[in-house]
Amino acid sequence: MSKILEIFNTMEYGPAPEAPDAVKAWLDEHNRKFGLFINNEWMTPKGAKFYPSYNPSNGELMAETTQAEKKDVDAAVASARGAFKTWSKTPGVTRARYLYAIARNIQKHSRLLAVLESMDNGKPIRESRDIDVPLLARHFYYYAGWAQLMETELRDYQPVGVVGQIIPWNFPLLMLAWKIAPAIAMGNTVVLKPASYTRLTALLFAEIVAEAGLPAGVVNVITGSSSAGSMIVEHPDVDKIAFTGSTDVGRTLRKQTAGSGKKLSLELGGKSPFVVFDDADLDGAVEGVVDAIWFNQGQVCCAGSRLIVQENVAGKFIQKLKARMEHMRVGDPLDKAIDMGAIVDQSQWDTIDGWVKTGIAEGGECFQPNIALPEKGLFYKPTLITGLDPAAATVQEEIFGPVLVSLTFRTPSEAIELANNTRYGLAASVWSDNINLALDVASKIKAGSVWVNCTNQFDGASGFGGYRESGYGREGGREGLFEYLRPKWMERPRPEFTVDSKWGAHTPTLPTQPGVARANGHSLPLVDRTPKMYIGGKQVRPDGAYTTTITNAKGKIVGQVGDGNRKDIRDAVEAAHAAHVAKPGWAMRHGYNRSQILYFIAENLDARNAEFVKRIVEMTGRTQKSAGAEVDAAVERLFSYAAWADKYGGTVQETTLRGITVAVNEPVGVIGIACPDEMPLLGFVSLMAPAIARGNTVVMIPSQKHPLSATDFYQVLDTSDVPGGVVNIVTGDRDHLVKTLVQHEDVDSVWYFGSADGSYHIENESAANMKRTWTGYGLPRNWLDREQGEGHEFLHEATQVKNIWVPTGE
Ligand code: NAP
Repeated sequence: MSKILEIFNTMEYGPAPEAPDAVKAWLDEHNRKFGLFINNEWMTPKGAKFYPSYNPSNGELMAETTQAEKKDVDAAVASARGAFKTWSKTPGVTRARYLYAIARNIQKHSRLLAVLESMDNGKPIRESRDIDVPLLARHFYYYAGWAQLMETELRDYQPVGVVGQIIPWNFPLLMLAWKIAPAIAMGNTVVLKPASYTRLTALLFAEIVAEAGLPAGVVNVITGSSSAGSMIVEHPDVDKIAFTGSTDVGRTLRKQTAGSGKKLSLELGGKSPFVVFDDADLDGAVEGVVDAIWFNQGQVCCAGSRLIVQENVAGKFIQKLKARMEHMRVGDPLDKAIDMGAIVDQSQWDTIDGWVKTGIAEGGECFQPNIALPEKGLFYKPTLITGLDPAAATVQEEIFGPVLVSLTFRTPSEAIELANNTRYGLAASVWSDNINLALDVASKIKAGSVWVNCTNQFDGASGFGGYRESGYGREGGREGLFEYLRPKWMERPRPEFTVDSKWGAHTPTLPTQPGVARANGHSLPLVDRTPKMYIGGKQVRPDGAYTTTITNAKGKIVGQVGDGNRKDIRDAVEAAHAAHVAKPGWAMRHGYNRSQILYFIAENLDARNAEFVKRIVEMTGRTQKSAGAEVDAAVERLFSYAAWADKYGGTVQETTLRGITVAVNEPVGVIGIACPDEMPLLGFVSLMAPAIARGNTVVMIPSQKHPLSATDFYQVLDTSDVPGGVVNIVTGDRDHLVKTLVQHEDVDSVWYFGSADGSYHIENESAANMKRTWTGYGLPRNWLDREQGEGHEFLHEATQVKNIWVPTGE
């Protein structure tokens, strides 16, 4: 025992241990052996295999849990499906009561949850008690509110169905809350699989939910290996997969669900920048770094793992940071006065250590403080690696441990370039006392969450999710609801498709055989009006110099168009990209300007109404009345999106931050759009207009069968002040052209309204760089109907939400 005088002299912390007794009692009550939680009951399958859960801070075996097999996954899905019948019909106000009861129950069992979380995962009790568990309750309160409001505020939507949810080990309770709360609030039922390293709190949570009286089958928790996860993903009766985990597994899931019509949201990895300007409060920023990278031992998807400091203060900042690191306390997670607990598992410890060695081999200088670690357990020192090249693997790859790399910059534009020099885009932190600079940089960093002069802020009222290879979809906030909803008019797509190894192959078309009549009655056109491609605001010849003939329903020739190839698509993407980033790019123009241009397009289309009607009649053989209705609807649709151009900018989120959290609906970037064959003009306009209204630039592949309405549209665009490159149009074989779009690194999203087979291939190919996709699965959509042909579904696809957090006050 230290003497008071010694303590006074050293100012050492004494131990402040949290008692594990209640957790041990709970584990003992279950004989330290757990079954699966299905239909509100514990179920231990006959002949089940078990998996050990260890406490990473001392290696003690805590309990064993079941390895679910196929029949168990089937039972859990069947239970969820059974419950869906009544739960989806249960009034929102009643569902709200259940969520509220769960939130209350979480609060009542908060200590047990927090202690178990720390013992199972290794995170400090300070974090599980003060962050994870309060946020767990907060999510259920927040989404209880949306259940209450669903019938009035989301009346055009219905639940998706049975949702398979797969979560990682770094925030077992929080990830579970992000997934279960919005899902059940919206009337879905759930089968959740926790990560193998951290299975126990999900099982305790299941009991707490049942105790709160949630009807059986609404929440099922099954434990198992990655293959059990895979079985959930492949299960035909699962309607949506919500996944949080590594980008590599996310890629696998995208491929597995491709073409199936299952909704998919992916919250993946990150390598988030932490940018410090020379005018920042450097001491504050040092504390920020501690929270950014050593929170949860750095095992955080949005960890600020890339420090980017302005060169003129870099030396001073690193010195302060090193001094602070010497005072970090690493130790028993149940000690209330430690900063960092244990790494979750030996294999993760080895991975982290491997990365540190790589960093040194890559020329980095490694600093670890001279602090004591407990003798036993999986502890790792806070680590800083300086002097690395921005392209070094240690700077580019997610380490998922307490390892910070640091770079320097001179100018704000260099800082932005370095911050965006990553395939990820999950989060960022910007530190400057110049609010104008900080907000400008925040708006230019490509990431789903940007924290200004703060870091790692989360709340139920704000969405969280990635750009680029950090995934898609949002969790939290109103924006997170969309993942668990389907428009009311839409059935669950169950497309039938075949996988074609030659998908997208195309041989250019040959001249039309003699004897094919022309629809206009002439044996030959008097003047050749064969349109070219429309790229960068100009008409350009198809690169391949091939032309394809367009015939009508009766087989008569109505015209010819260019037969586009890969090169045409690349040129179009380049033009779209240039128009997007030009200064000021299309995205930088204000909504008022974009709306005026859309009104102008509408006006000019209407001025040529009769001409477009004639063309549609000629191409499709439909009646004058039907074609007239299509053109009128296209004009109206342009008016709708002219209206939306300055009315979908975002919201101020009502989070718990003392300050402002703003959700900005940013454009996605360059969108490739393959249009449907039905309604050749209206389909084209219904997809182009929302995309450009919200600041995206587009590469349009018009209807393959009836492309002439789109090629006639060149002149409408030319006369409507649309800047070159905002809309690019490439005609030809839809699947051949869209294949290049989906494989193109500079295309941010692909919308595809072709066949079921094509939808499969688009989703499958998109996994390569985790591109966003929106496919129609070859199913009919009534483009004339405003509910199906315009509105929020389209605007949602045309935007990605960035949440910017700005604390206020001195
Ligand atoms: P992981 O290996 O991808 O595993 C995540 C979950 O997926 C686990 O439950 C795992 O089960 C399961 N799984 C693995 N392979 C599967 C497959 N083929 N099919 C279906 N399920 C499969 O990730 P992790 O190591 O647990 O977590 C770390 C990663 O999560 C990091 O990359 C981190 O950035 C990311 N993360 C992202 C967010 C976010 O919001 N963006 C939040 C937290 C973490 P087993 O455990 O049984 O293998």
